Amino acid sequence: MTRRLWSDFVSELEPYVPGEQPRIDNLVKLNTNENPYGPSPRVGEAIKAELGDGLRLYPPPNADRLKQAIADYHNVDVKQVFVGNGSDEVLAHAFNGLFRHGKALLFPDITYSFYPVYCGLYEIEGREIPLTDNFQIEVDDYLVPNGGIIFPNPNAPTGRLLSLDSIASLLRRNRDSVVCVDEAYIDFGGDSAIALVEEFDNLLVIQTLSKSRSLAGLRLGFAIGHPELIEALERIKNSFNSYPVSRLAIAGGVAAYADEDYFKQTCEAVIASRVALVKALETLGFEVIPSAANFVLARHPNHSGESLMSALRERNIIVRHFGAKRIEKFLRITVGTPQQMTFLRAALEEIIL
Ligand SMILES: *Cc1c(COP(=O)(O)O)cnc(C)c1O
Repeated sequence: MTRRLWSDFVSELEPYVPGEQPRIDNLVKLNTNENPYGPSPRVGEAIKAELGDGLRLYPPPNADRLKQAIADYHNVDVKQVFVGNGSDEVLAHAFNGLFRHGKALLFPDITYSFYPVYCGLYEIEGREIPLTDNFQIEVDDYLVPNGGIIFPNPNAPTGRLLSLDSIASLLRRNRDSVVCVDEAYIDFGGDSAIALVEEFDNLLVIQTLSKSRSLAGLRLGFAIGHPELIEALERIKNSFNSYPVSRLAIAGGVAAYADEDYFKQTCEAVIASRVALVKALETLGFEVIPSAANFVLARHPNHSGESLMSALRERNIIVRHFGAKRIEKFLRITVGTPQQMTFLRAALEEIIL
């Protein structure tokens, strides 16, 4: 086409680049923080039961059953719950509906790279607040005029956890803008800030079923907060897509919450595997940032992140490397099964020793 028929602003967008999903046999895929274990078997059964003529009907627009399952699990009222097509969509609606105030949105300099992308999409000024030298969030640094604050906890891609006390301390001193805590990885080792939503009406907590519930392919995420914040998200959602959560996703999501034992077992297995991975990496001379997530950020004194990444790739293992200056020497490695971690360790020994 010789003419550009785009809206003006599209050329200026800098879209998010997700980790690759190559279709290679026997690949050890440690690049996008998926769960190495499949979802609860009950999820598949519930989805199968949902297949049939019913699919000709639109899903319930408010995904009521799923909202109720999430509300029951987290001990909140259903009016405090919003659900969406993956937490990325929930985040997008939060940016659009809660952060467009003509004032800067604050987030860490090293964080989830979708935040600056949404700032671009929704014309929000983003202001990066540097993490400390050892990659921690210092909440006092966020006590400046702002149109909102967002960070993941544990942070990504560092894996570092911020205590609930620190989050409460930030909320006590930042009352007039929304503080959004993106808890994509909280089930792997932290306490959820959902415990604080009754006390702080400007707190929005976002979680996903993609990581700890092994459902990245189903696309489910949710937010919990004061009903006023949830209403803003509903207004955005109902101005955009009335049916973001499919019938299959509702059935699968409800089933995932019904299988608490499976959830606990797989989280524990991932945590045990992370502990072993950290030990193995440290034995090989890596510096590893303390992680409460299902991934670790690590660097080796004698090898660049890029060279390690390509050497691993030659051995059919893929990990993630980020270009940002402060972490360019690091690799982000998703925690896999014990078997995958043994394979990774053998490959690294071959490369490094
Ligand atoms: C994976 C991830 C998400 C997105 O999860 P989806 O629900 O799959 O869209 C959001 N935030 C962070 C920090 C993540 O790592």
